[in-house]
Amino acid sequence: MIHHPSADVLMAYAAGSLPEPHALLIATHLSLCADCRDAAKEMEAVGGALLDRLAPAEIAPDALDRLLKRLDEPAPPKAPLPPADPVLPAPLRAYVGRGIDGITWTKLGGGVEEFRLPIPTTGGYATRLIRIDAGRKIPSHSHDGDELTLVLAGGFIDGDDHYGRGDVAGADPSVNHHPVADADGECICLIVTEGKLRFSGPLGPLLTYFRG
Ligand SMILES: [Zn+2]
Repeated sequence: MIHHPSADVLMAYAAGSLPEPHALLIATHLSLCADCRDAAKEMEAVGGALLDRLAPAEIAPDALDRLLKRLDEPAPPKAPLPPADPVLPAPLRAYVGRGIDGITWTKLGGGVEEFRLPIPTTGGYATRLIRIDAGRKIPSHSHDGDELTLVLAGGFIDGDDHYGRGDVAGADPSVNHHPVADADGECICLIVTEGKLRFSGPLGPLLTYFRG
């Protein structure tokens, strides 16, 4: 089963109204998912047509340009784009500034490492790459806010669902879950969290890496 962002999220992305961390995650998914890329382009076209029908005085002069640029330049590079990478698609590479092998990971214990992306945590969001050893389990936790995960390498199981490269997983404050990385290789994910996580398992107090 393939896991995609909802139509609402794609629409918000096409309209340019997602916060920067979420826009980056969706742009990265679109670079891996032709179906959602097509859907977002259709939404973009509909949005452009609606703007065309408004009287010019009603919209900012550059509104259409900004909308149309959205899909082409979802995450403006802050430095020259590093060369192609098997794990990090272009929008993400622009933020990370290097390939996956050049990342300096911070060990968090329990077979988990993190790399914090240089995106301000305004709005209470934290944006990270997380690398989990094969077969490792993330302690059971629930959320104060939403959590959005995009798999970049390997995969994990959460409940009855398996998530592989390109898949998006969302969790809201009602979810208490404990994802388990696949046994056959490390799992690397892009994770955007809002608010603090509440760990409920015995290892919870040791693992504070999701906290903003
Ligand atoms: Zn998709």
